[in-house]
Amino acid sequence: MALLDKYAPLLVQYESLEATGYNPFNVAFDDVVSPTEAVIGDRRILLLGTNNYLGLTYDPAVIAASVGAAQELGVGTTGSRLANGSYGGHRQLERALADFYGRKHGMVFSTGYQANLGILSALAGKDDHLILDADSHASIYDGSRLGHAQVTRFRHNDPDDLDNRLRRLAGTAGDKVIVVEGIYSMLGDTAPLREFVEVKRKWGAYLVVDEAHSLGVLGENGRGLVETAGVEADVDFVVGTFSKSLGGVGGFCVSDMDGFDILRVASRPYMFTASLPPSVIAGVMEALRQLRARPALRHQLLDNARRFHAGLADLGFTLCSEANPVVSAVMPDPKTAFTFWSRLLEGGLYTNVSLPPATPKGLALLRSSVSAAHTPAQIDQALSLFAETGRALGLIPAASGSTVVPDLCVAAQ
Ligand code: PMP
Repeated sequence: MALLDKYAPLLVQYESLEATGYNPFNVAFDDVVSPTEAVIGDRRILLLGTNNYLGLTYDPAVIAASVGAAQELGVGTTGSRLANGSYGGHRQLERALADFYGRKHGMVFSTGYQANLGILSALAGKDDHLILDADSHASIYDGSRLGHAQVTRFRHNDPDDLDNRLRRLAGTAGDKVIVVEGIYSMLGDTAPLREFVEVKRKWGAYLVVDEAHSLGVLGENGRGLVETAGVEADVDFVVGTFSKSLGGVGGFCVSDMDGFDILRVASRPYMFTASLPPSVIAGVMEALRQLRARPALRHQLLDNARRFHAGLADLGFTLCSEANPVVSAVMPDPKTAFTFWSRLLEGGLYTNVSLPPATPKGLALLRSSVSAAHTPAQIDQALSLFAETGRALGLIPAASGSTVVPDLCVAAQ
């Protein structure tokens, strides 16, 4: 038996996708020309699955900041901050993030994935308990394993279930750390944060919120669901990423907790990996400045999200959430999801196909993410391709007029 034989079933699935010529896990763009357009061969592709929420990847000021930093400081740090030292930009970005969130402390990681690994593994040790929403992102699950804490899952977005789990843990040794997300990456739904905060207070637990998909998207000032829900004072740690609304790469955590800085020598994913290059730090810094200075971007994003969401609902698609920039349509099964996705790509539209086990509740999803950079005409173009494909596959009625029923996602489990 060879080492990689254990992957034989996965290989069969992967090769069967390759054989169709449309492998959703191996799309290669020949060129990317703007936040919303790419090229494959001689075809122009409309991008509707990039998480580029504010469209800042091509912003001239962000590019200039990034290029300037590379010219001035070189292209890489070639080591971790502990081993090689921090550049001024690392500290400045941490201060800028702490200032944006009105927190005392900020810490930057090399990816959003590593931010969750680093924070969760360091916060909760062997005798502590991490209590995770069942729909948590892979980085939250992986971070939980890394720290050897005892892990309990509660039903997605269910404060009563969270309450029950904490009741059962009452009296056990160790701290209890609850982890939830703002906007969930797969379904686009949001956490009932106020209710979670009540439960957290009742049991004296700590609360971590991953705002990867809600930074710059929700809240009057773009500070995410925590701001919208008015619970900033009750959230102990906000984790996030630079790879979505800030258009770069990297991750962060902000907090008011005294002693926070000890995590810099306790968090292995912070300590044992190379720090972000100056160009990335400078680009993210400028993107954060724009996020703060240009609320119109967020308003445009939400207008676009509402237009796309309402359009799909009207066509009769089953959607999983209220109108957020993540819009997921439920497909009857993985094969149909794949067929739908590849027909959209043939028609010039790139979205994400999300299949079990990566999706919650075994759902097959066609996941789109809307950007502030989309024009209304591009949203309408996407909608007409969805309409054409949905009708051709018999998934939606020939005439439009249905309304969205968010709970159908739950019914479909
Ligand atoms: N948390 C959540 C909720 C995410 O959706 C993602 C990425 N999709 C991450 C963390 C990881 O972020 P990154 O891709 O920047 O590593």
